[in-house]
Amino acid sequence: MAGIIPSPSNFIENIINSDLENNKYGGRVHTRFPPEPNGYLHIGHAKSICLNFGIARKYNGLCNLRFDDTNPSKEDIEYVESIIEDVKWLGFDWEDRLYFASDYFEQLYDYAVQLIQKGKAFVCDLSNEEMREYRGTLTEPGRESPYRDRSVEENLDLFARMRAGEFPDGFRVLRAKIDMGSPNMNMRDPALYRILRATHHRTGDAWCIYPMYDYAHPLSDYLENITHSICTLEFEDHRPLYDWVLETLELEERPLQIEFARLNLSQTLMSKRKLRELVEQGFVDGWDDPRMPTLSGLRRRGYTPESIRDFCDRIGVAKSNSVVDMAQLEHAVREDLNRRAQRFMAVLRPLKVVIESYPQGQVEELDAENNPENPQAGWRKIPFSRELYIEQDDFMESPPKKFFRLSPGREVRLKHAYIIKCEEVIKDDATGEVLELRCSYDPQTRSGADTSGRKVKGTLHWVSAAHALPAEVRLYDHLLKESAPQEIEEDEDLPGRGELKQMLNPRSLEKLTGCQVEAGLKEAVPGQGYQFLRQGYFCLDAAAGDQLVFNRTVPLRDTWAKIHKPGRPG
Ligand code: ATP
Ligand code: MG
Repeated sequence: MAGIIPSPSNFIENIINSDLENNKYGGRVHTRFPPEPNGYLHIGHAKSICLNFGIARKYNGLCNLRFDDTNPSKEDIEYVESIIEDVKWLGFDWEDRLYFASDYFEQLYDYAVQLIQKGKAFVCDLSNEEMREYRGTLTEPGRESPYRDRSVEENLDLFARMRAGEFPDGFRVLRAKIDMGSPNMNMRDPALYRILRATHHRTGDAWCIYPMYDYAHPLSDYLENITHSICTLEFEDHRPLYDWVLETLELEERPLQIEFARLNLSQTLMSKRKLRELVEQGFVDGWDDPRMPTLSGLRRRGYTPESIRDFCDRIGVAKSNSVVDMAQLEHAVREDLNRRAQRFMAVLRPLKVVIESYPQGQVEELDAENNPENPQAGWRKIPFSRELYIEQDDFMESPPKKFFRLSPGREVRLKHAYIIKCEEVIKDDATGEVLELRCSYDPQTRSGADTSGRKVKGTLHWVSAAHALPAEVRLYDHLLKESAPQEIEEDEDLPGRGELKQMLNPRSLEKLTGCQVEAGLKEAVPGQGYQFLRQGYFCLDAAAGDQLVFNRTVPLRDTWAKIHKPGRPG
């Protein structure tokens, strides 16, 4: 790389810088994001995407998108398509470098033949159970397979016949010949190829043997000229095998595997397999359910790509695992939408207000600021009339001392409008339920033209009853009741249906029908964030068709900002 080496901002960039100083890859930096197409991407993947594409951008290098599709039984084209859409949405571009590990099947086979020829791989006939037994334990060395000393010729013949489909599934495997006494279990003659008759979403039935991840991954990296192969911490113990494959094949300019800590978020799950379980068991409304930590779920919830990228930047890159508080992600989207979201008024639980002193049939167009954070956002007109809606909980008949909203005989300001006073409460005789408020208004107090000099403590949002539009609003809470049970995240076994149900927050979704929103929201478009005054940030639900359905992205209150005032968290 010509010229100046950028200053590093994490340990991975330190490694890259030292490689650049030593001219290790001729100054090249080439990374990849290698998802397995067995589920939708989640926010943890976003961290990996931002890291890999971010490094390529910073170092003027390249980043590939590669599907690690070596396990046909779990994979599907639906996942390939969703992953492509999500990486694009996040704002990254792999240009013409979209690859599939399955495109290398022929080359991977040839390399396996080379390993056999070097006496470094053998066909093993032990059953799965016997293999496990021979493998030893963390405290005891393993035992060598009785098939380990097969001749090169016999191995070549058997491997070719494995490929030709002469043996049933699982009958034989190709194994690396490394060291059954290694303290690292991954080095105890690991399997490289297995027999599996499963239709692959790209290669169809062309193959009945498939390479194992630990074998395919280093070679895929090598074939794509990757320099720095960044992965998560659980692969640290696999690195010796990664290196062994490339060294044994005597390949030059070998990529370097670097591990970093995976992102865990509080009160949600972060494993494709477990998220898939939620979808398949019907606990959520699909992969893009707005409660899901998937990128498609976050998008439908109203998260912006900018806020997710910002979040990933801020949490940084670490070498040991930890759990990040969900409030940090919420903080990022709030900050982004605060700058950009147009303000509206929406009444989620309407209570009718009749301004008795306001002329029947009169409608005034009042001025409302679109976004006080952005003067360029301008102003809009909102209609005011005799019948309005306010929020049910903005009224109390017998309020406690510090209640500055509406109650009998008290005054409040209606945002962008007038000061009103509650004169009478109409109730249902039988139930005592408050049905309607009768109020008066002070014509001298119009916002922007207030000549009264009066001050009131409370300001309420409202809509004009005749002009507002009916809408549904969905409020969300965390997916899980309690903060991430780390063991469950890391446990390879899926939790049972009962266990899942136990973990899920039964109040994660509240649907409010009968909301009344400002008429301007008729023009709302999916993917755009709006602030409903005093209620939070919302977006139009992309799956709701012609109905006006809004998802709350986040409420306004920001606990994270209070803890880490005023600057950056962390
Ligand atoms: P999952 O356990 O959710 O299935 P995975 O690691 O099996 O995740 P892959 O499709 O193999 O999913 O992941 C693609 C890339 O994303 C890998 O490099 C992986 O290390 C990275 N990745 C996956 N989960 C996280 C996470 N929580 N934080 C950071 N990176 C992650
Ligand atoms: Mg996986």
